[in-house]
Amino acid sequence: MNAQTRNVKIDNNIKITPENKCSFCTGSICCTYVTHHIDTPRSKADFLQLLWQVSHDNVKLYKDDEGWVLLIDGKCQHLQPNGDCGIYDERPDICREHDNDYCEFDAPSEEGFDLYFQNYEELLAYCKKRFKTWGQRKED
Ligand code: SF4
Ligand code: SF4
Repeated sequence: MNAQTRNVKIDNNIKITPENKCSFCTGSICCTYVTHHIDTPRSKADFLQLLWQVSHDNVKLYKDDEGWVLLIDGKCQHLQPNGDCGIYDERPDICREHDNDYCEFDAPSEEGFDLYFQNYEELLAYCKKRFKTWGQRKED
């Protein structure tokens, strides 16, 4: 999710299957961020709040088919250097339910985003386009 890509050279003779796929994903990409779905922002006040949030390190914002999402880049503390989960038996349900059928190993998540704001400047530019009266700081 954070522009990380696989960095293992895969022998052409090896067939990638759901069972072995994660062993080739040296970055364990799905363990390196958190997402939080939010209500669809509509007003200037909503976007001002989001501008504050994306002003913080590692906080980004995107919109995809399922709506608006805050993305926080940050490796899980339980991710071991070898890619194993340090709390495998007690790992949260969201980790258990994560499907590797077509995941970040296959294509960057960004490819599925309709909108993607990686920082304050990018979101501010969007706000200025979306709200003609943005500079006046009045609610539409
Ligand atoms: S589910 Fe996908 S992104 Fe996560 S470790 Fe496995 S291959 Fe990598
Ligand atoms: S708890 Fe384990 S499976 Fe879940 S994100 Fe952390 S390292 Fe990955």
